[in-house]
Amino acid sequence: MAELTVSPLATGDELPVDAARAAIAAALVPITQTETLPLTAALGRILAADVVSPIDVPAHDNSAMDGYALHGADLATDGPTVLLALPGTVYAGAPWAGDVPRGHCLKIMTGAVMPAGLDTVVPRELVTLEGELVQIRPGALKTGENRRKQGEDLARGSAALRAGRRLRPADLGLLASLGLAEVTVFRRLRVALFSTGDEVFAPGQPLPPGGIYDSNRFTLTAALQQIGVEVLDLGLVRDDPATLTAVLQRALREADAVVTSGGVSMGDADHTRDVMAALGDVAFWKVAMRPGRPFAFGPLQDGTHRAMLFALPGNPVAALVTFYAFAREALQVLGGARPEPMPVLQARSVAAIRKRPGRTEYQRGIVERAPDGLWQVRITGSQGAGILRSLSEANALVVLRHEQGSVAAGEPVDVWLFDGLV
Ligand code: AMP
Ligand code: MG
Repeated sequence: MAELTVSPLATGDELPVDAARAAIAAALVPITQTETLPLTAALGRILAADVVSPIDVPAHDNSAMDGYALHGADLATDGPTVLLALPGTVYAGAPWAGDVPRGHCLKIMTGAVMPAGLDTVVPRELVTLEGELVQIRPGALKTGENRRKQGEDLARGSAALRAGRRLRPADLGLLASLGLAEVTVFRRLRVALFSTGDEVFAPGQPLPPGGIYDSNRFTLTAALQQIGVEVLDLGLVRDDPATLTAVLQRALREADAVVTSGGVSMGDADHTRDVMAALGDVAFWKVAMRPGRPFAFGPLQDGTHRAMLFALPGNPVAALVTFYAFAREALQVLGGARPEPMPVLQARSVAAIRKRPGRTEYQRGIVERAPDGLWQVRITGSQGAGILRSLSEANALVVLRHEQGSVAAGEPVDVWLFDGLV
């Protein structure tokens, strides 16, 4: 973990966001324990192993249309095709046992197994019927049309889903279509969460003079719930070294990762930094970003117990922005998921934005469709790091990259849509 021991604070440099992300990614060791769940309980869980299809899907050649199954070789090229329909119909789930001689066809329903020897289906609307005679106009159809081939969706022995995938509704349907009733996923990642600061108090009680309510724990619990981890809420921790040590020790014993807010700023008079540093190989970074400069990351260790610490700044906006920038994807990886880069959309900035190169800026914005149908974004009111209201009003974060300078009105910018952050 060489990256973590070289603290950029030693040189007074600010660490670029990308360098911080790379150092975090290099230090992650995913969990390996798994559990097997019925499909109905597996939404959002992380697949622990590749799923290889035990069967061909579809299991047989079958009809893609309601119509008439025929021998493609009977299709005439120089005039209409006329075939004799055998009595009866092939329905889905009831395969046809008999032969269909050349020059004959058979009424078939969508999903029904193709009778032996037949390779083509003419849709009902393309034929003219005269008693038992089925007439098809020249050029209406080619051999093999409207027939689904055995194994065309998924051949037996091929990988249906890859390990590390977060299971979505269609994935669960796919597993069911393979005849699988259960799926093996990683156990849920356990994340301990607490807020620090002597001035911070839990909502639901009167606020003492000089106090503020703890909003971070609620923002972060929700953001953690959106990525499907189990949250161990350790509440509010006063700025007292013995208490902080005890809570961090409990957190690293009982959880895979620890997320905290507050107490990591440079000027902080409190003990949080010292206690964290004493319990592991934690790097304290001054990241070249706004909001959210102070950030600490690294493994906490006590005997054989280990947990990754993500210590976020206390400012409510900075706490959520650093969570999205550094913790969200890392926690998914710790939980066994393949890293999925943040979905980035480009939108036209309605107004000019001032920005100096050399740091990444995250500005709260509202993305909407312009009258010309393209996406545009306007920055919401005040961008102060403590102003949660403007974050709540926003539906996106405008991400102004490290090297980027000021943006002119009408220029495209990168945005993270909040609804894409789940
Ligand atoms: P810190 O990072 O501890 O220096 O805190 C920076 C600012 O965020 C201070 O104004 C704190 O009062 C505020 N703050 C810290 N923790 C929380 C919290 N859990 N909820 C709301 N604000 C907080
Ligand atoms: Mg503090």
